[in-house]
Order: sequence, then structure tokens, then C-alpha cells
Amino acid sequence: MKFVVAIDGPAAAGKGTIAKAVAKHFNLPHLDTGLLYRGIGKKALAYSRTSYYPEVAKQLALDLKPSDLNPNELRTPEIAEAASKVAKITEVREVLLDFQRSFANQDGGAVLDGRDIGTVICPDADIKLFITASAEVRSYRRYKELKNNGHDVELESVLQDVVSRDKRDAERETSPLVIAKDAIKIDTSSLTIKDAVEVAISYLNEKYETAKLLK
Ligand code: C5P
Repeated sequence: MKFVVAIDGPAAAGKGTIAKAVAKHFNLPHLDTGLLYRGIGKKALAYSRTSYYPEVAKQLALDLKPSDLNPNELRTPEIAEAASKVAKITEVREVLLDFQRSFANQDGGAVLDGRDIGTVICPDADIKLFITASAEVRSYRRYKELKNNGHDVELESVLQDVVSRDKRDAERETSPLVIAKDAIKIDTSSLTIKDAVEVAISYLNEKYETAKLLK
């Protein structure tokens, strides 16, 4: 059988942690699609002022290699900001489309998390989750994570970054962050991460059983 799980949501809502836990639970491969945009964003920061011209950004996307996707090198506020700027560029999204769809279509299925998984990449996913939380809660989580990783950041500036990134992601023309009509929304504002994972897995268990019966 094949089980495809699409997980979307704004920055720092907990979708990455939930996606990893879900993938482990169902023994499925996981793709954090944000890393693809962060990998290109990092290249854009290092390249030149022309990096955000569509043709230049497209070439940076075409040149992306697996070795550019080391999560530890990509989780900085500067790269997050650059990622959301390259993510607005239609040509960049087009370059990444086939890779993401093939990942989702592999035998057995997969878990993908991002902003447009349920709407654009896997519109026929077996289940779609939309993970969200208040901007304050998300910023505080991101602030703690950055501090723990040795970054010198202020809570207020993390909040501003999160809000401006959400706005850019939600307002862009190509594949904006929107909740898919058939997605299950989970608000993690007042949940511990353990509880949020449990809630997600309980929804998925039900769908998994149905998928098993149908396939
Ligand atoms: O999920 P993460 O915060 O790592 O994503 C970084 C940026 O990449 C997001 O702010 C968004 O602009 C972009 N992104 C996207 N579509 C995805 C995943 C990420 O536009 N599927």
C-alpha cells in the first residue's frame, strides 16, 4: 500500500517535529521541503545582488546538490529570510516541483512538510494536516531553538522575522501558504510537542487503516 502524508503550516508551528515523528511511526521516508528553499536561500546570500532575479535564482535552484541540504548549516534567521525570498520566484518553485512529486510518489508513500504540499505538490495525499500556532508561541519556540543552537537573537526580532516571513509566504502569487480545503487543522499553541504528535498520529491512524483496506 501507499500512504502519502502532506503537512503544511507557517514557520515554527511544529510541523517539522510532527513530520519527523509521523515518518518514524509509519516507517515512511520524510522530506522537509523547507530545506530545499533554505539551500537555495543560502546560495542566494553568498552569490550577488542579482540573486533574486528569476533567471539567476532558477540557476541556483538547478545547481542545488544533496550536500547543500545540511540542516545544521541552514537554520539561521538570515537563511530563513533568504529562503522565503527565493520561494516567491515561480521559476524556482518549478525547478523543485518534480523532485518533490517523485519523492511523494515513491513505493510505499512518504511524509512531506512545507507550505504548499497539500495544495500543489500532493493534492491527492491520503491525509493533509495543517499545523499552526499563534505568532507569539511560534516566535518563542523559534527563539529558544536559536538560542540553544548558540545564536545571539532577541525575542522581538524573532517575532518580527516570523511575522514578515508568514506575510511573504501567504501573500505571494505562486503557491502561497493557504490551508487546503480537505486539510485537518491542528493548533499547537497550547499543546506540548508530545501532545501535538499524539494528536497528529491519532488522525493519521484512522486514515492509515482506511488506506490499508482500500489498497
Ligand atoms: O519550513 P522552513 O521554515 O524551513 O521554510 C523556509 C522557507 O521556505 C519558508 O518561509 C517558505 O518561504 C519556503 N517554503 C516554501 N514552500 C515549501 C517549504 C518552504 O515556500 N514547501
